[in-house]
Amino acid sequence: MTKQQIRVRFAPSPTGPLHIGGVRTALYNYLIAKQFGGTMILRIEDTDQNRYINGAEEYIVKSLEWCGLIFDESPDKGGPYAPYRQSERSAIYHEYVQRLIANGHAYYAFDTEAELDAVREKYKTVDRKVFQYDHQTRKLLKNALVLPSDEIQNLLSDGAPYVIRIRIPEDETVRVQDVIRGEVVVQTANLDDKVLFKSDGLPTYHLANVVDDYLMKITHVIRGEEWLPSAPLHVLLYRFLGLESFMPRFAHLPLILKPDGNGKLSKRDGDRLGFPVFPIEWKDSKSGEIYAGYREAGYLPEAVINILAHLGWNPGNEQELFSMEELIQNFSLDRVGKHGSKFDPEKAKWFNHQYMQKCSETELAVLMNPAMAIHQVSPNSDYLEKVIALIKDRVFLVPDLWNNSWFFFQRPTEFDKQVYKKIWQANTTAAIQAFLVEVEKITIFTKDTLHTLVQEFTTQSGMKTGQLMNPVRLLIVGSNQGPGMMDIADMLGKAEFMERIRIGLEKLKKLDT
Ligand code: GLU
Repeated sequence: MTKQQIRVRFAPSPTGPLHIGGVRTALYNYLIAKQFGGTMILRIEDTDQNRYINGAEEYIVKSLEWCGLIFDESPDKGGPYAPYRQSERSAIYHEYVQRLIANGHAYYAFDTEAELDAVREKYKTVDRKVFQYDHQTRKLLKNALVLPSDEIQNLLSDGAPYVIRIRIPEDETVRVQDVIRGEVVVQTANLDDKVLFKSDGLPTYHLANVVDDYLMKITHVIRGEEWLPSAPLHVLLYRFLGLESFMPRFAHLPLILKPDGNGKLSKRDGDRLGFPVFPIEWKDSKSGEIYAGYREAGYLPEAVINILAHLGWNPGNEQELFSMEELIQNFSLDRVGKHGSKFDPEKAKWFNHQYMQKCSETELAVLMNPAMAIHQVSPNSDYLEKVIALIKDRVFLVPDLWNNSWFFFQRPTEFDKQVYKKIWQANTTAAIQAFLVEVEKITIFTKDTLHTLVQEFTTQSGMKTGQLMNPVRLLIVGSNQGPGMMDIADMLGKAEFMERIRIGLEKLKKLDT
């Protein structure tokens, strides 16, 4: 990449929540901008009023903010090429589409939706073909290429509804140079005359996107593969507008695939397969449905960034964990593959585990605050941090912090029946009662003194350590979970340790009856 002033944009349409594929697109744009000291722009492409979803723009902004992706120019921040919301730029597009009409590269089409539906139906049933408004069919339809000019004038002055379509050349070859895919060649004979301007006076995505990329001086268009089929049309638009020399470089990113590699990761997959596909939770205002987010599932933004960085990009070495700074230094579009990347939910958790291990106990304690508030516990910070140190290596997601440690703060109210059945023997209750008598005698209760006592006790009574300690764990924790039993006892202290055993024995008695 040359040392030109790099300007990239992330250009989402607020038609719903931002899929993690979109976050990855934003990330790759961001990395390129930062690596080259360039500018990162957020442009909201909201010209399709029918698909506009309330709250989607705010959701997109919040999601990207949570991921740590900061924009230099945006609807909120403003910038030299404002406004950055396309619905506020309609006059600009009007001017450009008029230019295309004037130079014969676009035309008015007056076909109503009903008329087009009828044509589509005829194609389907009589001709057994899919109708496309193109260089052949346009000759038979109601547009300015066919109608006499006085009729066109009349229709326009009568205010008849119309759209403006691009006039695709009949037989040309369009070449798109793509940084990731090389040259993509398309014959115009296969393209349709896409609508550039709708009857509502707003442009479609294609025109607005190209005009804005030009006006906002975008140097690199880095976007998802689903836009590759539109790229030849965009190349033609640059040419027809006389802006070919300003055309940005294109890079179409590979798809993110379902874990089994069968197709694109969709918004339904997350709930079906048990992992989020959205950065933060999204509530569908129409259906009331809630889609899980990485934030709420207990992922750290740093981990999400790493997961996404690796979905498409290959660093070329064994390094897996990258700070944002390292990504900025190492990222390159040359190492982005053409083929889709499978999303691996286990690997995603692994990344989060790694980042949680990197956090200090104090940082993890902060992450536990919401869970502690829900369960109404407020341990002192010293105790809390010691607990966290004991369970940290078992933690993959934020909720694991509480799930692996709650028994340090609360007594169990239930006891795992399966475990009980498996480990409780005829003499277990009596052995534990005898053990309690010995525990009572310990004057300095620590991990070590308890350990010595357990050794002496089991040797004398001929028990295996597990035969004593597994039942003790069940009484203390309610299950067979948790870190080393001596560590738990040490943290709880003698009084609580003994009390839990007593209470537990009482409760287990009831389990028997
Ligand atoms: N508005 C398009 C989208 O929703 C942008 C595609 C592009 O980046 O050109 O993804």
